[in-house]
Amino acid sequence: MQIVQFPHPALRWKSKPIVEITPELQKIVREMFDLMYAAEGIGLAANQVALPWRVFVINLTADKAETSEEHVFINPEIVKRKGTVEAEEGCLSMPKLYGQVKRSAEIVVEAFDLDGRGFEMTLDDLASRAVQHELDHLDGVLFTDRMSEAGQREVAPVLSDFETQFRRQQELGVIAPDTVLQKQLLEIEPKP
Ligand code: ZN
Repeated sequence: MQIVQFPHPALRWKSKPIVEITPELQKIVREMFDLMYAAEGIGLAANQVALPWRVFVINLTADKAETSEEHVFINPEIVKRKGTVEAEEGCLSMPKLYGQVKRSAEIVVEAFDLDGRGFEMTLDDLASRAVQHELDHLDGVLFTDRMSEAGQREVAPVLSDFETQFRRQQELGVIAPDTVLQKQLLEIEPKP
């Protein structure tokens, strides 16, 4: 398992709800935390490891010793939003790219944990932003999509560089063609 980069098709995939919490899922979630820490991130969505499942992990401390700060969100939904606030974001699938994004200031999120228990959290500040960013990933939405027009113009050359690099790796056979990647995603989608 590895973190995929823009424009991998998994990052544009609308992921399907998880129907069962299996030992395999628990193992994958553990691997997602480990990848996230290795990349010094605070959140990682399944789409970012090319899994079309509605799950993401967050640890705002980015410190693997702080296990009590680890949170797993399965089939998450934002049920309430309040206010708007703009701040800088980045993404492990778009290394070294940063930009200002407007998000809801406060949210109420509902999800299931790894034991299958439903929970609800009221979040603000960084936690609210991180959850909105990661939940977007599950719908195939990237933070750059939510930047202002001026912001998008500014990052366009960087995105185009990512694109060129990705296509080159596909030409070299290091990364499979989009059609193959899409087929793989379809095959591992949760089946109700
Ligand atoms: Zn991201």
